[in-house]
Amino acid sequence: MAKKVVILGAGYAGLYCALELNKLATSQDAEIILVNKHDYHQLITQLHEPAVGAKNPEDITVSLNAVLGAKPIKFVKDIVVSINKEAKTVELGNTTLSYDYLVVALGSETEFFGIPGLKEYSFTMKSVNQATRIREHIEKCFENYAKEKRDSMLTFVVGGAGFSGVELVGELADKLPELTAKYNVPKDKVKIYSVEAAPSIMPGFDPELVEFAKKSLEDRGVKFSIGTPVVQVEPGKVHLKSGDVIETDTMIWTGGVRGVQQVIDAGFETEPRGRAKVDEHMRALGHHDVWIIGDACFVLSPEGRPYPPTGQISTQMGENAAVNIYSTIKHMKLEKFEPHLYGAVASLGRKEAVANLSPKFKPKGWVAYRIKDASKMRYLSSIGALFKK
Ligand code: NAD
Repeated sequence: MAKKVVILGAGYAGLYCALELNKLATSQDAEIILVNKHDYHQLITQLHEPAVGAKNPEDITVSLNAVLGAKPIKFVKDIVVSINKEAKTVELGNTTLSYDYLVVALGSETEFFGIPGLKEYSFTMKSVNQATRIREHIEKCFENYAKEKRDSMLTFVVGGAGFSGVELVGELADKLPELTAKYNVPKDKVKIYSVEAAPSIMPGFDPELVEFAKKSLEDRGVKFSIGTPVVQVEPGKVHLKSGDVIETDTMIWTGGVRGVQQVIDAGFETEPRGRAKVDEHMRALGHHDVWIIGDACFVLSPEGRPYPPTGQISTQMGENAAVNIYSTIKHMKLEKFEPHLYGAVASLGRKEAVANLSPKFKPKGWVAYRIKDASKMRYLSSIGALFKK
């Protein structure tokens, strides 16, 4: 009888896992059920684009119906409430599913580090809906400035200058001049702050590329506050450890991610930031019927560093889990997760990027931007979504 494989989440890891398993297994081997909150797949690595209005939400979403087409993958649009690993069931908002094999690919949540007021008074950018909220809010700030004339309405703070923060600041730097023209607001009234706790933006990234990114953004008016953690947020104010206070109506938090609550609540073994520990075949520790993949898990590289929660790692985890589920069904030897790393590219707005692709190939500027665009196209093609929207 076909094994029931329930995949939770249709992000990079979950969708890839479903598509790959469908390629390997016949309907006699596996019944594949894919659960997702929305009926679309989100390119969350591109969220900064609709958040600041350079692109529309539709530009970074893909209809799951279009991608799944007539494939024998059952799609369930619902919210995952809890996982009962002993009973081998998953409680959804509207129903309960049982499984033989479970794949948890629920992504990550925002890490607030317990900073007072941060969760309550900041925007976060983890979904297309949240990106749309940011976009509408920014537009309102400009619209209302004509009436209220408060400087804090035109002051935009991004907390955390990792890749997400830097990509967002780049979009802001390119978008805000358009809004100053549209709403006839003096350019010098608009302020963009990027606040970073570490001694450098994009900690750990290639120093030459970091310098290029910083200069490119400063030339477009971004003010960096580096080595100064955000320590408190209250309505209209962001407090830094240096004692500085930035008055702003817009605080966007991109200061880090953590594992998802459903994994912690289910009692899987996790590290301090809530990401599940998995074995070399991506199975939850001590559970040979549960795979936890994507941002929700924690895997160390052979050098002992955790793999970053990126799209390229997630898709490879999805592929590895699919192979290993199929091998389990067929009583074959499992494969170790050994990802191929293709480097990292961060955009700096609409025209430039920095890419660390190999020790000898570190393009920056327009060339790097085209590379980022090409990698998005390659990804869409790999899930069969290039011309399907
Ligand atoms: P991150 O954890 O990489 O960066 C968060 C940043 O916030 C860090 O630099 C940290 O020092 C800073 N920070 C933490 N606490 C702070 C505080 N109190 N005040 C000020 N700054 C503070 O998070 P991210 O940028 O969301 O990225 C998450 C993962 O996704 C990373 O692995 C990243 O590489 C990846 N990512 C990749 C891309 C890309 O490849 N283009 C884009 C976005 C994210």
